Amino acid sequence: MKVLVCISHVPDTTSKINFTADGSAFDKNGVQYVINPYDEFGLTRAVWLKEKQGATITVVNVGGKETEPTLRKALAIGADNAVRVDIDPTDSFNVAKQIAAVAKEGQYDLIIAGRESIDYNGGQVPGMLAALLDWPFVNACVGMEGEGEAYTMTREIDGGKEKISTSLPFVVAGQKGLVEEKDLRIPNMRGIMQARSKPLEVKAPVEADSKTHAGMYSKPAPKSTVKMVDAENISDLVRMLHEDAKVI
Ligand SMILES: Cc1cc2nc3c(=O)[nH]c(=O)nc-3n(C[C@H](O)[C@H](O)[C@H](O)COP(=O)(O)OP(=O)(O)OC[C@H]3O[C@@H](n4cnc5c(N)ncnc54)[C@H](O)[C@@H]3O)c2cc1C
Repeated sequence: MKVLVCISHVPDTTSKINFTADGSAFDKNGVQYVINPYDEFGLTRAVWLKEKQGATITVVNVGGKETEPTLRKALAIGADNAVRVDIDPTDSFNVAKQIAAVAKEGQYDLIIAGRESIDYNGGQVPGMLAALLDWPFVNACVGMEGEGEAYTMTREIDGGKEKISTSLPFVVAGQKGLVEEKDLRIPNMRGIMQARSKPLEVKAPVEADSKTHAGMYSKPAPKSTVKMVDAENISDLVRMLHEDAKVI
């Protein structure tokens, strides 16, 4: 089985997020990048498919050269080879088009992506990708069982779980539950050394227009300062809730 795992290169969750002075773009200064956490769950699930069923894993990123350390980390975790489509990912549709072209050319059986990319949080790429390929799509997946052609996927829904049966080829967008946090692989020295010589192919983008264009970015208004009220001083608390917060 040939598995394609989509890897989004995102700011570390502890990064301080800023925008350029004119608000037109994300300010990358001083930001550390990691594999999108949702993609790490997907990659680990793919490594299980490799270990149990002999699957081969290709990781793909649509992005500039700066994403290559992230792809190398995915190779160190267990992917066999990597593809980087050399274009700035400015729109979900364009990204989906690029990955669809890679998927068609490589004749993959299964595509695993994340539920959303924690940078721009569009949650659009996997659905668009499935539509472009005309493959079934299972979103927000927390479990995956099966062998051969047939798979049963589990999704978390409001107040319960949903089981969906489908067969290859299909696109799955995963999240925590596909594997648990304790199952995530930390690359060891051997993996890091091997990753250096695994193939990383750089592909030219296919022609694809962008359907959307981001105008402005802004940060939420800073939180107002907290006023501490002495536990004994109930009348002051009531007055502040009435006069300042106007909630009673
Ligand atoms: C350097 C940079 C500049 C950007 N500039 C702009 C801009 O100017 N205007 C604008 O509108 N947007 C911009 N973006 C955002 C860009 O449009 C989105 O990152 C991209 O389209 C993904 O869309 P999404 O948020 O819907 O992804 P989602 O659908 O939330 O991602 C879900 C999953 O799809 C896969 N995926 C997503 N993106 C990629 C990728 N690039 N490669 C491989 N797999 C992927 C991953 O598995 C991910 O978990 C920029 C992003 C970057 C990194």
